[in-house]
Amino acid sequence: MASIQTTPGGMPVLILKEGTKESKGKEAQRNNLTAAKLIAEIVKTSLGPRGMDKMLVDTLGDVTITNDGATILKEIDVQHPAAKMMVEVAKSVDNEVGDGTTSSVVFAGALLERAEDLINKDVHPSVIIDGYSAASEQALKLVQKIAFKIDPANKEILLKIARTSMDSKLVSDDSPVLGQIVVDATRQIAEKSEDGSLKVDLDNIKVEKKAGGSIRDTKLIKGVVLDKEVVHAGMPKRIDGAKIALINSALEIEKTEMSAEIRITDPQQMQMFLEEENKMLKAMVDKVKSSGANVLLCQKGIDDIAQHYLAKANIMAVRRVKESDMFKLAKATGARIVNNLDDLTAKDLGSADLVEERKVETDKWVFIEGCKNPKAVSILVRGGSQRVVDEADRSLHDALMVMKDVLEKPAIVAGGGAPEAYIANELRQWASTQEGRAQLAVQKFADALDSIPLTLAENSGMDPIDTMTELRARQSKGSKWTGIDCRNGVVTDMFKQDVLEPLSVKEQIIKSATEAASMILRIDDVIAATKSKMPAGPPGGMGGMGGMGGMGGMGGMDME
Ligand code: ADP
Ligand code: MG
Repeated sequence: MASIQTTPGGMPVLILKEGTKESKGKEAQRNNLTAAKLIAEIVKTSLGPRGMDKMLVDTLGDVTITNDGATILKEIDVQHPAAKMMVEVAKSVDNEVGDGTTSSVVFAGALLERAEDLINKDVHPSVIIDGYSAASEQALKLVQKIAFKIDPANKEILLKIARTSMDSKLVSDDSPVLGQIVVDATRQIAEKSEDGSLKVDLDNIKVEKKAGGSIRDTKLIKGVVLDKEVVHAGMPKRIDGAKIALINSALEIEKTEMSAEIRITDPQQMQMFLEEENKMLKAMVDKVKSSGANVLLCQKGIDDIAQHYLAKANIMAVRRVKESDMFKLAKATGARIVNNLDDLTAKDLGSADLVEERKVETDKWVFIEGCKNPKAVSILVRGGSQRVVDEADRSLHDALMVMKDVLEKPAIVAGGGAPEAYIANELRQWASTQEGRAQLAVQKFADALDSIPLTLAENSGMDPIDTMTELRARQSKGSKWTGIDCRNGVVTDMFKQDVLEPLSVKEQIIKSATEAASMILRIDDVIAATKSKMPAGPPGGMGGMGGMGGMGGMGGMDME
């Protein structure tokens, strides 16, 4: 083991802590490649519209059913360090662009598989890394070349893009309804920045979910849904033409920090004391009333007595509204959040066509809707069961992110593996411009890109060899949008099939997968400290460092 060095005199010198495991060179590489490829193998079958779903069971027995690459990898508890790096790819793609997580993991896995071929032929990893990096740059140029600009105001095309991102999900049958909601929601909250481009902050879209009904009952609310009820039974439950006050202080008598004792000696005093409290609370309510508000949304508490006076004044009130919701309410209704009741004036009030408490299954929620040009909106997700609602929520997340991507950077490509096949084809020709062995790496990069259309075809039950032959032939003839139409199981023009995706997603897949593959290829030494809780090895120490079994292949991966 490398952790034992010997001095010229033959004395052993212990460099690493006892029990530390090290694997070096080819062995380290092989372990890492195996682990990383296995991760790709896991998500592979879920790629595309005909991909399968995964059922994930956590240690508490909770079940998640999903087709979303990022979610699958988040839920499984991966132990091997290289496998963890693959999970990171999915995470980074999810954060950056929201869609394309499965593709990036599948592509990274394919890059590593092809790299292994070269390593077996004694090509040095650093040559492969250089070749991959050059190929990735060229691939980005190629995809940018074929992408084309869209008009962010073109709702029809936006709907097609949103629908494509949901095509591969459980909710695909409902994508006409959900897609429309996603397009409307993002366009509603998009803000023009100074240079004329759009900025989409998805924090301004509140997604609330509730099991029950069907996915088709999912609704866009031009305002905010609060999972709270009206605070007092005597208050109105519906107010048309709402004038809304947003207060972030309590309508309560402040308690002193120190415990104070008030000695009351005669009943009259008691009466006076209570009356005084009463008067203060009534004064608070009067302030709300005189501002002209008929709805009060309070971030803090509302005293019972204040509730009573509010009810008498026909003011609807909700208490303990979350801070994040207060911000959304301000953006949706145009109200200003007021800290001090004394400052509240008619100018601070927001407006909504309707504020109403409604029953959603067994809960009572307050809907603030019909806001004029709201800069925050809500989506109420419904579906047959909690699992369906959860998966619908995840699919909505992907679609919302994709809309954000195209609104902020309005350039798209067709999907179905067409751009990947196109780039692969071009790269194979471009490879000859590269020197020596880097050529081989570029060729392998191109082959790895083909794994996307190939996997789409396999997952759709198409014959992989026939399909890829036809795809390559038609790509070579110059029809660059030829891809895999998974729904009909044919090779065809994906543009005509309305399968459209943001350019930014394709760019991110190429970048993240290449980065991850290179990072894994660069490793030739894995030094793993053992947990201190592990029982010490037998006396003499060497026993504890015996086998490297724990790090070999699947040995280090725990997928419970
Ligand atoms: P990812 O997590 O990578 O987005 P998906 O399971 O969503 O994985 O699959 C995305 C892939 O499926 C993309 O390559 C996309 O172009 C493709 N795709 C989506 N809809 C269709 C369709 N109707 N026909 C063919 N391919 C499609
Ligand atoms: Mg997707």
